[in-house]
Amino acid sequence: MSDTEPRAEKSVGATAEQTEADTSSEETATRETVLDVSGLTKIYPDGTLAVDDIDFSVKAGNFCVIIGPSGCGKSTTLHSLVGKVEATEGTITLDGTEITETETYDRDIGLVFQDFQLFPHLTVEENVRYGLERLDLPADEADQRVSTIMETMQLSGATGRDPGELSAGQKQRVALARSLVLEPKLLLLDEPLGDMDYKLQKRMERELLEVHREFDTTFVYVTHDQTQAMRLADQIVVMNDGNVEQSDPVDAVYNTPETAFVATFVGDSNILRGTVGGTSEDGSVARVETDLGQFETRTDNLDAEPSEVVGTDLAFSIRPQHLTLGEGVRNTVQCRVEDVITRPGKGAQVVLSPLSAPTAELQLRSWEAVSAREGDEITVGWTPADAVMLDRTSVVEGIDLETDILGE
Ligand code: ADP
Ligand code: MG
Repeated sequence: MSDTEPRAEKSVGATAEQTEADTSSEETATRETVLDVSGLTKIYPDGTLAVDDIDFSVKAGNFCVIIGPSGCGKSTTLHSLVGKVEATEGTITLDGTEITETETYDRDIGLVFQDFQLFPHLTVEENVRYGLERLDLPADEADQRVSTIMETMQLSGATGRDPGELSAGQKQRVALARSLVLEPKLLLLDEPLGDMDYKLQKRMERELLEVHREFDTTFVYVTHDQTQAMRLADQIVVMNDGNVEQSDPVDAVYNTPETAFVATFVGDSNILRGTVGGTSEDGSVARVETDLGQFETRTDNLDAEPSEVVGTDLAFSIRPQHLTLGEGVRNTVQCRVEDVITRPGKGAQVVLSPLSAPTAELQLRSWEAVSAREGDEITVGWTPADAVMLDRTSVVEGIDLETDILGE
């Protein structure tokens, strides 16, 4: 379960969580925007609209992760940034300078490929030195840069070795060193840990985070793996079908998803839908009438004024870990237990079907063992503060909540 929690939510106590979130957002707020993408569109020669008029920006020093399902346009976006793909429309601005038409090697952007693509016929040091030739630095400065980076990346002992003799961890460090030695303003990584086994992946993630911290470089990292995204990211850009669903700090994407797509793609969510019947006097809580009954939800994350959504059909989401067993909260549902899955060290996952709408399904997760058994009838509930209203199903037109997002 920890895999689906964002980095900012690591601490357990609410106060600690709050402090951590506050510090990171404060830090982010004071940083300058280093990358700005505006109206970026890519239509390939065969007519495929791969990226459809997207906007996002990244603050200096951030670890930004672009996630989305396979084919949603992540690689096209990344390759447009570095100039490997020519944008059809839109602008890319790096550190205040528009680079949309700039040659790749003049962009001040590094790119780390999946499987790293080291030059097999060059030694480790030659690999790291390779890109420096183009910069035309004085020889002693180039030497200095190479030796500093080799030392920092703990590669000094591997200077003369062939890339083929290296472990995966060392290969990653050579690939990073080869890019970082050029001191790029931005480092792009396209699913670099895609083919690795889980344990190695986790170790490489830790190394990446250390390198990111050490060099204070801005990273834009692409993956389709949302658990990885949450372990790495300060900021997440969620893409879907060539569009950006949401671009925000990781805790905002997780805690206040703007669309049902984001709520289900980033971490697990229970999604309910109904008609907004009314709001509390101050508008902070809305009452939604659903097939499962009437529930109260917070409204603070809505783009719209709470009064404007009264009478409309809206969805809201509740994380499985925010469902609790038993009465005593504002929102309760009588359910039949369909399944209890207990995993050592990971608590229990309970699959529930509401008595009033047996085809709907709710998921509850608990760190503690649960006494409920399959077939039991129980009451589950959640507080209004844990129910997040979703402005839209998706930013993509024509997406259906039931068939396209919930897969029913
Ligand atoms: P992702 O990296 O998210 O998997 P891509 O950016 O690779 O997605 O692809 C986005 C869409 O563009 C897909 O429909 C893909 O098939 C299409 N596409 C990618 N590269 C090309 C290309 N060179 N020519 C035509 N279509 C392409
Ligand atoms: Mg890709």
